[in-house]
Order: sequence, then structure tokens, then C-alpha cells
Amino acid sequence: MTDTDPLPFLPWNRPSIGDEEIAEVTDTLRSGWLTHGPKAARFEEAVRQALGVEDSFAVSSCTAALHLAFLATGIKDGDEVITPSLTFCAAPNALLQTGATPVFVDVEPLTYNIDPHAAEAAITDRTKAIVVMHYGGHPCDLRAFRKLADDRGLLLIEDAAHALHASRDGQRAGSVGDLAAFSFYANKAMTTGEGGMLVGRADLVHRARLLGRHGIDSSVWQRHGTRSTAAYDVTAPGLKYVMSDVTAAIGVQQYRKLPVFTERRAGIAATYTSALSGLSGLATPVILPTVEPGWFLYSIFIGDTAPFSRNEAAELLRARYRIGTSQHFRPVHTLGLYSQTQAQPLPVTEAAARQQLSLPCYPGMTSLETVRVIDALHSIWDEGTEAGRVSLLEEHHAQ
Ligand SMILES: *Cc1c(COP(=O)(O)O)cnc(C)c1O
Repeated sequence: MTDTDPLPFLPWNRPSIGDEEIAEVTDTLRSGWLTHGPKAARFEEAVRQALGVEDSFAVSSCTAALHLAFLATGIKDGDEVITPSLTFCAAPNALLQTGATPVFVDVEPLTYNIDPHAAEAAITDRTKAIVVMHYGGHPCDLRAFRKLADDRGLLLIEDAAHALHASRDGQRAGSVGDLAAFSFYANKAMTTGEGGMLVGRADLVHRARLLGRHGIDSSVWQRHGTRSTAAYDVTAPGLKYVMSDVTAAIGVQQYRKLPVFTERRAGIAATYTSALSGLSGLATPVILPTVEPGWFLYSIFIGDTAPFSRNEAAELLRARYRIGTSQHFRPVHTLGLYSQTQAQPLPVTEAAARQQLSLPCYPGMTSLETVRVIDALHSIWDEGTEAGRVSLLEEHHAQ
């Protein structure tokens, strides 16, 4: 490579799709069965067994799984549901669709997970459920939330989009709530392109399955062969949220690889943490002792004593070093739709949103790429004296 060749852009995330996924999809395409059928059933059963949950239902997205969770648990107009704001908009949006009101509470400073004490303080006579989220793949305090929900007669729903392969205190994320939702969106720890899964209590997943298939009481696949496909009844105002077998074929193979993917992510995370820990004003992720994280995100937090702000560092990484990053999340209570509704300030959430930066951390990364990210951050910090800072920013603006 010469001096004039630009470095290839290192994206924040890249899916890892191998020959196994391609072969499984080809098998499905040749099989003649494309919609929710035997591959979806295999995928559902693999997840159900690994988590030790009663039932599982593969759907078109995590958002669909969350919407079904809220419908199946009877969350409705007038209910309040406690949830973090430092999350993606999917759960709050789906709550609004049911007529319920999301009540945003703050997160803990170390893990950036919803704070059980803040959640407890927000309970009112109208509270129906708590929706927790496992930030970046580090499970929230599941024991505390299960106890709180049981003591106060509330439903516990896990938005486990980041945490299909994660545990805390010996409990798997997604196995403790009455229901839990997973995402297989393209940038998640495993992917089917678009996809999700709802798991949990048999009675609730059964209801969700009905609601996710037009309100028809059994699947075409189950009906096929035993009954005429015309002999069906509709008993609830259902939607159409099932996962196709083409998608599930990818899921079956990705799920088989997820432990290896997670190990690889953990290895990159360990390398980052030891290499970045000395940089002033930069905090690396905290993992509590009883936690096996899913490592969906590797988050750094760039505080006031760092030579650059988070936004400046992200821009320098992109423009000068051709390294992609991401930010998780713009707090939901600051989004236009929600900005009128939040009465209380959420200081930890708002500080995290200013400081957090997600570095590339995925199984397809080479060790050279990991070193490239580390070296770039060290160079930026090294030049972060006043003089260096000016020249770096000038160089960037001149481009
Ligand atoms: C990605 C994500 C979702 C939405 O997942 P989809 O499968 O795209 O619907 C929901 N919640 C959180 C926390 C997410 O990160």
C-alpha cells in the first residue's frame, strides 16, 4: 500500500455469514416450504432449550415480538409501563400502539442498565409492567427485577435484543421475565437480516402466537396434512408477525455459531480494555463479577477530562483513520415524539448519551483491525495536547 492509497473503511459492524447459512437457505428454497414451518420450529426449539423457557415463537422482528408481548399480556390504554430511556425506540413505540404510557426511569452509572430503585420509585396504581433492557449485552439485575415484579404484582418483560447469549447470577438473560424479546437485525450479535423471537411463559407465548398469525388458532404448517387449510377460525384481532423459513434457515446456523461469536467478541473486548485503560478521561465497560456478557456493544465513555469530546473523537476516527463507530442511544425521552412527556430529568442517561461510543467489536474483525482501532485512539489521545488538538482539528476541517 502506498501513501496515497486510503485505508479500507473499517465499518462499526459487519455480519458473519458463512457457507453453512447459504447451504441451509438453499435447502429451504429447494424444500418447497418457505413460510413459518420446520426451520422456524427448529430455531424456536434450539433457543427454548438453551434458555430453559416454556415456549418460543420466531417472528419478523424484535419490535414485532415486543408488540406481541404487550398485546398478549393485555397491556392497554391507561396502563403505565416502566422502562429505561437509554434504549432503542422499539419498546416505547409498541407501548404507545397499545395505548399505554411508557414511564422512563434512569439507568445505573456502571452498567447503564435500568436502575431497580428508580423503577420501584416510579410504580403507581396504574403501573402494569416493567420492561427491562440488557444494555450492550450486560444483563440488568434480573433477580432484583423479578422480586420487584412479584412483590408488586407486575409483569416483567425483557427487551433482550442485545443479550441472547448472556447471563447474570447463573440466570440466562431472556429466561427470567414473563416474556422476553430477541432481535436478529443485521447488526445484532447474530442475525437473520430481519427477525426476532418471543420466549417465556407458555400461556403468554400461546396467546402471542395466535395474535401473531391473524388470530387463527393453528399454523398452516400444523394444519397442513391433517385438515383442510380452509377450515380455520379467527378468535382475536391478530396481526401477521411470523418469521419465514427462509429467514429461520439463517437463524438455525447463526444460533449454532453464537457461542463462538460471543467468545470472539469477548476476546476483542479484553484486548480493547487492557489497551485503552490508560487513556485519560476514557472509561472502558464495567462487567460485574457474576455476569457473562453477550458483548453486543463494546462501549467506551469519553468524559470531560479527555482531550476530545465523544463527537470529536468519533469524527476523527471516521475522517482520519477511516474507522466507523456508533452511538447507543439517543435517549428516547429526547426524541420528538416523546420530548413533551418526560417530567423528571434522567442525569445518568443524559450523560451516557453524551459520552458513549460503540467501537467495532465483531467476530469478522481481524486482530490487525483491532490493533488499528487501538492505535488510532492512542494517536488521537497522544496528540490531544492543546497544540496537537488544534492541528488535528484543522487537518480534519481542511479535508
Ligand atoms: C435492535 C433493537 C430492537 C429492535 O430490533 P428489531 O429486530 O430491528 O425490531 C429493540 N430493542 C433494542 C434494545 C434494540 O437494540
